[in-house]
Amino acid sequence: MLITSVPSDVTPPAGGLRMVDPELSRLIERDRRRHNQTLNLIASENYASRAVLEALASHLNVKYAEGYPHARYYQGVALVDDIESLAIERARALFGAEHANVQPYSGSPANMAALYTLAKPGDTIMGMDLSHGGHLTHGSRVSFSGIQFNVVSYHVRQDSEKIDFDEVEALAKERRPKVIIAGYSAYPREIDWAAFRRIADLVGAKLLADIAHIAGLVAGGAHSSPIPYADVITSTTHKTLRGPRGGLILCRAEYAKDVDRAVFPMLQGGPHLQQIASKAVCFHEAQSEAFRAYARRVVENARALADRLQERSFSLWAGGTDNHLLVVKLFDRDFTGAAFAAALEQAGIITSKSTVPGETRSPRQTSGVRFGTPALTSRGATPDDMRRIGDLVARVAEHVGDPAALRCIGREVRAIADGLARIA
Ligand SMILES: *Cc1c(COP(=O)(O)O)cnc(C)c1O
Repeated sequence: MLITSVPSDVTPPAGGLRMVDPELSRLIERDRRRHNQTLNLIASENYASRAVLEALASHLNVKYAEGYPHARYYQGVALVDDIESLAIERARALFGAEHANVQPYSGSPANMAALYTLAKPGDTIMGMDLSHGGHLTHGSRVSFSGIQFNVVSYHVRQDSEKIDFDEVEALAKERRPKVIIAGYSAYPREIDWAAFRRIADLVGAKLLADIAHIAGLVAGGAHSSPIPYADVITSTTHKTLRGPRGGLILCRAEYAKDVDRAVFPMLQGGPHLQQIASKAVCFHEAQSEAFRAYARRVVENARALADRLQERSFSLWAGGTDNHLLVVKLFDRDFTGAAFAAALEQAGIITSKSTVPGETRSPRQTSGVRFGTPALTSRGATPDDMRRIGDLVARVAEHVGDPAALRCIGREVRAIADGLARIA
């Protein structure tokens, strides 16, 4: 923000958003209202604190500081050195990591930097198939990861729909990947890091743990930590960790230099210091007892929603959840994941469609819908709320394509939303 006592044509406008750009301001205001009046069950979204958003909107937006603390290419960096160092120290303490890089702009560039650290273009990497819960950056053909690396994909088992470690081991022995990636976007069960470490060691592979989705659960003690097992760990800071939109890399000391080089100058330019400051606030909040209670509640809420959906005859990926998300399978229904997600939205329940194991439809249609509890838990939702929401989801399934019935269900959704904490 620039405040001047000398009004001039060349200074940026002094008024707030509502005054300077009413059109955009109204759109933002309407979207805020949409959040408050609906139930956000998108597994990757969360509501950050006011303190996190304050740091993000600070004047630090101005600063160029290419490089790292005490090794920059610009002047005027003493205080942003302190800020980035604080963020690094807090990230290390929160996760118990030897080294942290807090500069990745988001989760995908963090993965790119991690892969460039552990492998060279043309090397073989191994990740979960996209349709079984993996991420684009884990070797999809349309991502840099699938374009620049040889990709071997593993899957979940057909029977249990849990990670198929027999396949992981067999593929690893046959294809000898440089890197094995564990960590997913739509996998509802606990990840056995030790099992991945054992297989990586069998074939001399490095283990990359991508905790983009579960970082808040790991930090809050509600999911086991990959720190003792993985060579490099990547994450977002905006999903369960409830910070600003951004990325994070943790690693053992031996990879510190290579990770830092891969982020800057290999991949990125100037660090986003307003975002790094906001990450520091996020790590500070995540160290609190209140955040540990939040992480536990996220998991309790997911379990309550999963149990109720199963009581209402939905079939779930891997039969339930150990974490913050669950995926409903719709093979026994006459509508697609896309149609169900659209009907849920008409009733004010916001989700995302998802491919599921054994998928028969395209990624645009899908046979699944993914639900997650991080955002509503941040608004104070309880397991009782989740059971009520489960009942409403079941009623939506009975009325897909019936707008009048969906509007009627929407009034009950709105009543639940009105009882929760509001975002400002
Ligand atoms: C969300 C996600 C990412 C990427 O994060 P962006 O910030 O969207 O780039 C990477 N890996 C996994 C497993 C994710 O779920």
